[in-house]
Amino acid sequence: MKLAFLIADGMGDYPLKELDGRTPLEVANTPNMDKLAKTGKIGLCRTIPEGMEPGSDIANMAILGFDPSVYHTGRGPIEAAALKAPVDENDIIFRMNLVTVSEFSENGIMIDYSAAHITDKEAKKIISSLKENLEDEAWKIIPGFQYRHLLIRKNGKNTSLENTKINPPHDILDQSIRNDFFQYKNNEPLFDIILRANKILKENFPESKANCIWPWGQGKKLELPDFFKTYGLKGAVISAVDLIKGLGYASNMEVIDIEGATGLVDTNYNGKAEAAIEFLKQKDFVFVHLEGPDECGHAGDIKSKIKAIERFDKYIVGPICNFLESKKGACLICCDHLTPVYKRTHVSDPVPILFINFNASSNKTGQKFSEMNAKKSDLFIEKGEDLIKWILEQIK
Ligand SMILES: [Zn+2]
Repeated sequence: MKLAFLIADGMGDYPLKELDGRTPLEVANTPNMDKLAKTGKIGLCRTIPEGMEPGSDIANMAILGFDPSVYHTGRGPIEAAALKAPVDENDIIFRMNLVTVSEFSENGIMIDYSAAHITDKEAKKIISSLKENLEDEAWKIIPGFQYRHLLIRKNGKNTSLENTKINPPHDILDQSIRNDFFQYKNNEPLFDIILRANKILKENFPESKANCIWPWGQGKKLELPDFFKTYGLKGAVISAVDLIKGLGYASNMEVIDIEGATGLVDTNYNGKAEAAIEFLKQKDFVFVHLEGPDECGHAGDIKSKIKAIERFDKYIVGPICNFLESKKGACLICCDHLTPVYKRTHVSDPVPILFINFNASSNKTGQKFSEMNAKKSDLFIEKGEDLIKWILEQIK
């Protein structure tokens, strides 16, 4: 069996008055998806379980067939898996941003979640200084990239640290950090290490935009079932994004790195499609994730979002589906969650899905793949982790 999941992060949207009541997906020129939709099955799938945050980590875990309400422990642990960081079962792993705040106090404002997109070079110096001065029996710092790093509390499991709820810094841009400040303050060891880190930043790096560390998204080590043992498919993930790589490593899939894959609109599309096809020539399943539409959703940029969807159609969907058609394989096209441009953040609505089985006689629906047609369909998959099971039923 040859099966591909093609995920356009944040592609789904709401009707926009700027587009005469249509969505970016409806407006985009997508000849490949249009052709596939005519013979495929359109429907909806709930990728974010009730009560969970609409994050890409949760949604993509569900699409890979693992119930987030069982396996999701936090953003930090997934990124630790991506970095192959040495973590123990009793550790609590935080994602740690280098950020810019107006001041780290109850009156502070979150100015920048990325410390003005700090360069790798500058971040490396800062992180190694923090490591040198702060690491001890209890705390470890794992360097990542740019503003994204990890902070680990050894033996932090079953302490109040596990339940502390800190906002992701990108969700509180230009907003007060008051609530988070008090959350930190209620956890003395955590508060203490932030104060000490901020002092080092101030004294050793007075010119840097990074004036505060921001630990969030914590949890215990990510443990996923083996993808092959669970679904019988030899699989790989292809993405520029750490959290997708983390899901791949944790479920024992192959993780294919593509040179020039940036996660932005100008990512190396051809590289991703070529690698997916090469992998499928040998094995069964490939999960291709494209970040572009989500970035445009966050930027509130309708034009770019349409363009990102068109590129997804042309450079990812087209070549991979041509190959799958020649092999009588199957393909799922969807997004992990909606990132509506006018909200500029994720929402937890069910996502539109398009499934094509090239090995079955087609029932021509003549429909276009759109949010509206997905809603009208009688296909609704209530639990994201059941999507892959439904697909495997279809292609049996
Ligand atoms: Zn996003």
